Amino acid sequence: MRLKDKVALITGGAQGIGRDIALAFAKEGADVVIGDINLEKAMRVEQEIMALGRKSLAIELDVTSSVKVEEEVNKILDKFKKVDILVNNAGITKDNLLLRMSDAEWDAVLAVNLKGTFNCTKAASKIMIKQRSGKIINIASIIGIMGNPGQANYSASKAGIIALTKTTAKELGSRNINVNAVAPGFIQTDMTAKLPEELKEKMRGAIPLGKFGSCADVANACVFLASEESSYITGQTIVVDGGMVMA
Ligand code: NAP
Repeated sequence: MRLKDKVALITGGAQGIGRDIALAFAKEGADVVIGDINLEKAMRVEQEIMALGRKSLAIELDVTSSVKVEEEVNKILDKFKKVDILVNNAGITKDNLLLRMSDAEWDAVLAVNLKGTFNCTKAASKIMIKQRSGKIINIASIIGIMGNPGQANYSASKAGIIALTKTTAKELGSRNINVNAVAPGFIQTDMTAKLPEELKEKMRGAIPLGKFGSCADVANACVFLASEESSYITGQTIVVDGGMVMA
């Protein structure tokens, strides 16, 4: 077991990629807190984790509120006595072409994806600095590297996450805290299932491995970054995209 008795907080862990990360961590021996805006769905994942024999806690968490994040992270510390791993996974899209994009669409995406990552990192790193250990994993996207029409807000938020990852890694490295990002490509989730078949076929053609990724593909990279196997890696972005984007 690569994460035996570690305590992890996964934001947006009630469904999709976050849920898979939570279950993968539990299978590797971690106790997992699911922080999600949707408490009911988070509680279902809590049950799934407990069925694997690990401790779990579902909390209602809106990552956009720094006050709420600080309160909830302190409650986690009270209950579990430490926070070893933070996965900043909560993310939303509100797509529109630049000229049609409203202030509200821009602000909402930046608030959840980028400010949410900042809020949770700040609250958890206070604890990790005292522990002199920690792993922070930020879920970015290849859109933050390559851009995408209709996603000015999303691409800027994800590029911001990649830059924030580097700065945080530089600030926290001396305290034995690793900060890395995972940039998924086209991953099969409820969100991507809704795209037209024609578009999906076109996208598949642009992927050297010729297939879409699964939530488990992203979760596997996160397990590696949360484990001691990656202890000399920090400030990096691991791209999980079947080869769509190559540096
Ligand atoms: P998802 O299925 O929509 O799950 C995201 C979860 O975050 C949902 O449970 C959502 O709740 C929750 N959430 C939304 N706003 C929140 C907030 N303010 N505070 C806390 N939780 C909040 O998304 P996903 O497809 O699994 O994506 C997970 C991450 O991977 C995101 O950061 C996304 O940008 C990134 N990503 C995904 C793909 C892909 O192909 N799916 C590709 C690249 C990157 P509600 O459902 O109630 O809103």
